[in-house]
Amino acid sequence: MLAELSPALIAEVELAAKLLTTRQHICILTGAGISAESGIPTFRDNQTGLWENYAVEDLATPEAFTRDPKLVWSWYQWRRQLVADKTPNPAHTALAQWQYHTQSSHQSLTLITQNVDDLHEQAGSTVTHLHGNLWRNRCSQCKTAYQDQSRGSYHSKDTINFDDTLMTCPHCDSYIRPDIVWFGEALPVHAWQTAEDAAANCEVFISIGTSSLVYPAAGLAQLAKQNGAKIIEINPNPTPNTIVNITLAEKAGVIMPLLIQKITAL
Ligand code: NAD
Ligand code: ZN
Repeated sequence: MLAELSPALIAEVELAAKLLTTRQHICILTGAGISAESGIPTFRDNQTGLWENYAVEDLATPEAFTRDPKLVWSWYQWRRQLVADKTPNPAHTALAQWQYHTQSSHQSLTLITQNVDDLHEQAGSTVTHLHGNLWRNRCSQCKTAYQDQSRGSYHSKDTINFDDTLMTCPHCDSYIRPDIVWFGEALPVHAWQTAEDAAANCEVFISIGTSSLVYPAAGLAQLAKQNGAKIIEINPNPTPNTIVNITLAEKAGVIMPLLIQKITAL
């Protein structure tokens, strides 16, 4: 693996590792790119098959659900099927190992994700979800969590029903929707507070696999920078982020194991 990386990139990884071992408070934000190597498409990838003629922005909004709930529900049921058998890749695993390692050190590491999959949890991490959870449902009106009584816990993908028939709320008869933050909707208050506190108080902010286009999450790196943090970005494609101090332009699944190996060896 090392042989494939340029000496310049390896030097940047070493620089990042040194910085990270000498700082106490670390905040990490992950996006769809960290799950790409597990086989989950990002929003920048073109949709395939049945859905290739739809733009994500026309499906993941409250307006789309009001206009055509069946269409939006079917798209989410399809995405759930796509994600159901996916497992963590070396980037998720390395992050979980680092988080475990910091429990017995002086460092604090806060992991925030924009992802709605559960690959960080599967790898063993504790993570704050800014955009909700693909495996939960709730009422579109009264917001009550929806649990399919015949199938047990709504938290578990093992028991989720992939049927694309619309379901209604037992309390108010409105349609059930995925418990996900759609474009134009507010973020969960507690999760956002955790993210803002961690970003404002960190000494290093690491952005992994995010296009830095979707606000307010994209503003977290700026908040960290304003408060004196150094910014590290891990993304094979350049982003519009001009505040980055160290760019590691490679796949997260390649960089993260190497970075964590260097951090834990120092
Ligand atoms: P995005 O789709 O806008 O951008 C993905 C970024 O990942 C791109 O910049 C791309 O260059 C980078 N990338 C691709 N492969 C990579 C790899 N192997 N390693 C590192 N980086 C890689 O995603 P976003 O910034 O997270 O924002 C879009 C929204 O999409 C979020 O709100 C998120 O909830 C949602 N989303 C989530 C999932 C998921 O849960 N897995 C999947 C698709 C979209
Ligand atoms: Zn209801």
